[in-house]
Amino acid sequence: MVKAERLPNRDDHIVWYNTVLELAGIVDRSYPVKGTFVWMPYGLSMMKALVRHLDLMFKESGIEEVAFPLLVPFEFAKQNDKWFNSFRDEAFYTSENELILRPTGEPAMYPIFKIWIRKGMLPIRVYETVSSYRNESKTTHTMIRDREITYWHEIHTVHKTRDEAAKEAMLHKSFYERVWKDILKIPPICVSKPPYEVFAGADFAFEFYTILPDGRLLENGSVNNLGQAYAKKFDLQYSDPDGKKSYVWQVCTGNGERFISAVISIHGDDKGLVVPPRIAPVQVVIIPIIKSETKGRIEEGARKLMERLASSGLSVTLDSSPITPGEKFNVWELKGVPLRIEVGIKELEGEKYTIFRRDTAKKIQVADADLTATIKRLLETDIPETMFGKAEEFYAKKIRYFSDLGEAGRWVTENGVAKANWCEGKECYDKISAIAPSVEAVGTLTAEERDGRCIVCGKQTGKLTIFGRTY
Ligand SMILES: [Zn+2]
Repeated sequence: MVKAERLPNRDDHIVWYNTVLELAGIVDRSYPVKGTFVWMPYGLSMMKALVRHLDLMFKESGIEEVAFPLLVPFEFAKQNDKWFNSFRDEAFYTSENELILRPTGEPAMYPIFKIWIRKGMLPIRVYETVSSYRNESKTTHTMIRDREITYWHEIHTVHKTRDEAAKEAMLHKSFYERVWKDILKIPPICVSKPPYEVFAGADFAFEFYTILPDGRLLENGSVNNLGQAYAKKFDLQYSDPDGKKSYVWQVCTGNGERFISAVISIHGDDKGLVVPPRIAPVQVVIIPIIKSETKGRIEEGARKLMERLASSGLSVTLDSSPITPGEKFNVWELKGVPLRIEVGIKELEGEKYTIFRRDTAKKIQVADADLTATIKRLLETDIPETMFGKAEEFYAKKIRYFSDLGEAGRWVTENGVAKANWCEGKECYDKISAIAPSVEAVGTLTAEERDGRCIVCGKQTGKLTIFGRTY
């Protein structure tokens, strides 16, 4: 039986993370292929809840779902030399080099888009949710750096005008802002990439980052306004009514399982996971507190309560396993279930319930008549707000503003993430990234400005960057 006491100290984040992944039933890490894992029912249910939110968000904006093959003809893959060179060493090849397993979707999709454009299908606004494959030479970490990246969604859009593509890219940026804020309850950190870091010929790119408890930055979602860079490589052109041909403008946006790794890492605590209610596989767990003389009444009361809550649309589980209530508390706290309701004879006779909040570890008493409304308010408002507030506090501790590069360097190698003014120049970017092998200046913050001097060259600027060790 799972016991919360077996969780290691959080000081070594990856050890804590790997242990909680297994004990909470998120994944099984024993699959004998490096950089792959088995999704277990509880974890899969969480991942798929997020996928459902994403599906809805994309479809409400008119972006339709498609599914392309994972196998990509080698000839397609080589069509864009820059793309191919960036994945050359990391792709999985068939023995005759006829096919590769997709590292990303462009070379599978764009030759087909060419046919669709010829048929008059413009704009194209589609997405797919599939696995992506990278033959990683670096150390792999489950859901952080995998060789099979699962539940990876990719939005690909094609437009006649540059303006239309730019608007589309801003819409995709807003998708991720909503996912982080409204669903996962983590403050979004978005940067725009400096021009020398975007794909050659691309217009602009945004990347989202999360900060893990070990102070490292983890890229977590990107939006790429590709300009005409790919259109020229794949010969994607349309003809206007008088026969003039023009290259199209494209956007691609993607992320996957890393969403969940951030949720586990940032919201988790000494007792295990704390799952945001909107992706919680179980939102409410009912624990009967059984004494032999009242066993029948309590079992019946607990079952009726479960039916009542389930019929009001809540995801609820009744734990009638043969372990003690205390052991059950540990199991469900480890799994991060937002609310626990204890049902004993006192509760049934007094027509009130004891509700335990996983996020604050506080208990409240609720009268039977107010139960459903209170649970809904907790799940929809109180818990999400508290979780977001805690994540903000966590980030406030991990991110520190610096005006001296030496001090910033010490902070990022030992503690967390530095924020600093910077001029966006390539030389200054390189100097920041030279602090230590894994340190990277990730770009310019999109949501914040502050007057100051570039931390490297001293030039006056309102722009801010963040930098730190990355995964
Ligand atoms: Zn500078």
